[in-house]
Amino acid sequence: MYKNIIFIIFLIIIGNYNSKSQNKVVQKSKKIIIAHRGASGYLPEHTLESKAMAYAMYPDFIEQDLVLSKDGVPIVIHDIYLDDITDVAQKFPKKSRNDDHFYVIDFTYKELLQLSVFERFNPKTKEAIFPNRFPYGKSQFKLHSLQDEIELIQGLNKSTGNDIGIYPEIKNPEFHHQEGKDISKIVLKILSEYQYKTKSDNCILQCFDATELKRIRKELNSELFLVQLIGLKENENHLKEFATYADGIGPWIKQLIKGYDDNGNLIFSDLVEKAHILGMQVHAYTFRADQLENIPTFEKLLEIGFYGANIDGAFTDFPDKVVEFLKNE
Ligand code: CA
Repeated sequence: MYKNIIFIIFLIIIGNYNSKSQNKVVQKSKKIIIAHRGASGYLPEHTLESKAMAYAMYPDFIEQDLVLSKDGVPIVIHDIYLDDITDVAQKFPKKSRNDDHFYVIDFTYKELLQLSVFERFNPKTKEAIFPNRFPYGKSQFKLHSLQDEIELIQGLNKSTGNDIGIYPEIKNPEFHHQEGKDISKIVLKILSEYQYKTKSDNCILQCFDATELKRIRKELNSELFLVQLIGLKENENHLKEFATYADGIGPWIKQLIKGYDDNGNLIFSDLVEKAHILGMQVHAYTFRADQLENIPTFEKLLEIGFYGANIDGAFTDFPDKVVEFLKNE
């Protein structure tokens, strides 16, 4: 009798366990939305404010680009330079290198926190790159560490009861190696401390550098979900090699389209199909409502990406618009 009850309880636990792990798989195989540099269409990219706003739009993942400070702290910033989003030229005029760039890696974490962060601009003309976005030079924003951002997202996961993932990118690993720093090792250690260790944890790690991403899998033995980013010049013949260590690829949206036929209809490249055959997901970048790449509307651009090209996920500066689009499909 008791043995039967214990056996039944055992079956229930196993059943729960299985349905939970299946949920995870379903989650990764539906169309996913990645908040690109946060809600960067509305607030200066990669600021905590932009991440909090993105969170409230309920994407599946929020992205972190990572560059190390002089004292080895991973900073959430897109470029290895500070020139295009901060007031570094005013605050530390003597700290540029011979190429006139101000490098994140030449500043301690404490120094970086003294900088003000702005909407992305051209440092020569001081003009905003996206003129219809948040006004350049207004309000007060700061840089922050990977740890600060994880704690924001995990904190919101706790207080809202949601489960939004992180999507960190290792930036310019070769540059970091030349500077004597192993950015991947440092980032993997922090991710592990915050319980991002395997493919079932809500984290996807991305990198453009194929040698480094392969090293992350094979030498640093990461069990995380890995996405190999690919630029236009990358040869599609490398897909088979990518599939030996990566779970997905991240192409530029222009790589999805081959051209137009005689009737003006789009012809799609076979990149997505090939990746799917190799068991890899495809998360394309970057869907911007204010940069439509000759497509008449943002909805049309999303339709082309998600259903024409059949991508599995999209990096977007406008997470709210993509959430709305997928909800209506
Ligand atoms: Ca990125």
